[in-house]
Amino acid sequence: MSKRDYYEVLGLERGADQKEVKKAYRRLAQKYHPDRNPEDDTAAERFREISEAYEVLSDSEKRAAYDQFGHAGVDGQAGGFGGGGFGGAGAGGFSDIFGDVFGDIFGGGGGRRHPNAPARGSDLRYNLELDLEDAVTGTTVDIRVPRHVECERCDGDGAEPGSSKETCPTCAGHGQVRMQQGFFAVQQTCPTCHGSGQHIKVPCHKCNGEGRVRETRTLSVKIPAGVDTGDRIRLNGEGEAGINGGPPGDLYVQVAMKPHPIFQREGRHLQCEVPINFADAALGGELEVPTLDGRVKLKIPPETQTGKLFRLRGKGVKPVRGGAPGDLLCKVVVETPVKLNEEQKDLLRQLQESLGEGNSHSPRKTSFFDGVKKFFEDMKP
Ligand SMILES: [Zn+2]
Ligand SMILES: [Zn+2]
Repeated sequence: MSKRDYYEVLGLERGADQKEVKKAYRRLAQKYHPDRNPEDDTAAERFREISEAYEVLSDSEKRAAYDQFGHAGVDGQAGGFGGGGFGGAGAGGFSDIFGDVFGDIFGGGGGRRHPNAPARGSDLRYNLELDLEDAVTGTTVDIRVPRHVECERCDGDGAEPGSSKETCPTCAGHGQVRMQQGFFAVQQTCPTCHGSGQHIKVPCHKCNGEGRVRETRTLSVKIPAGVDTGDRIRLNGEGEAGINGGPPGDLYVQVAMKPHPIFQREGRHLQCEVPINFADAALGGELEVPTLDGRVKLKIPPETQTGKLFRLRGKGVKPVRGGAPGDLLCKVVVETPVKLNEEQKDLLRQLQESLGEGNSHSPRKTSFFDGVKKFFEDMKP
């Protein structure tokens, strides 16, 4: 059977560049791929033809030989696609094409990574709970991070010092083996080397050949002043060790605030509740209120109602990203006196009598009962 011209097979001009070759191949390979044309022998034959043409035209050396001598120039080189099937050694073209082109057609993500290629280690996250005081002033904390680090015994190589690695005999270093299934070969991760393509004769005693060991190390982390829940601190290169000599990942310290017994934080502002007795609230006076820098005096005017907010400017938190510090909002809560002795009760009764039946001394009560009255009037038909 005489072979068709490779350019004709891919529908290309002879001067087509590599981009066009690849594009034509992808388009045709998708159309005739056996997975999409099960039990269609014609499609399988077309796919074989397309793949062979691509193998030659995508390789500058083979293409030059083909351009000069035709099929005679490359016959035997495009092996593996002919009657011999895919099993033979040296038919590496097939897997190369798969990695190169099918990786992104069918794999859906960037092509197949070479098994021995260096890979960056994973990023790690550490959840850190901070006291308000530490978050406001900044601090240094020691955290214990369990992670994979490069094995010191073998320098991440996986082979026992003094021994060497050899190419995996099962997959000849490809990391994949081909299983013949009818006309098509199915690729599988090599069971001997688990995809690394290399065989370690004597695995490192410390890491069992993995090149990395799990270890818990204590790291000192500088926490800048003003951090808040949701902030992340990145520690470059403190994540998991890389694979095959790749760079390590990063460690992210995720900050969350612990609840504080006195202050609630809202970004750069703080809020706290200050209980006062109702005599102070009525007569006015000076209160001591807590701030992060210590106690300060707060003047309360006469007739202060419960729930009133007093703002202490600049007594909040200086934000980590800069800007003016926030405020401290003191919420006054009037307390009902408890454990009264007879004398105190008497005084309160006198006060009660003096205040009288009317509501002129109770502005909230007045407006409340006015509201209730109106509510019931509106309900009448
Ligand atoms: Zn080791
Ligand atoms: Zn192998």
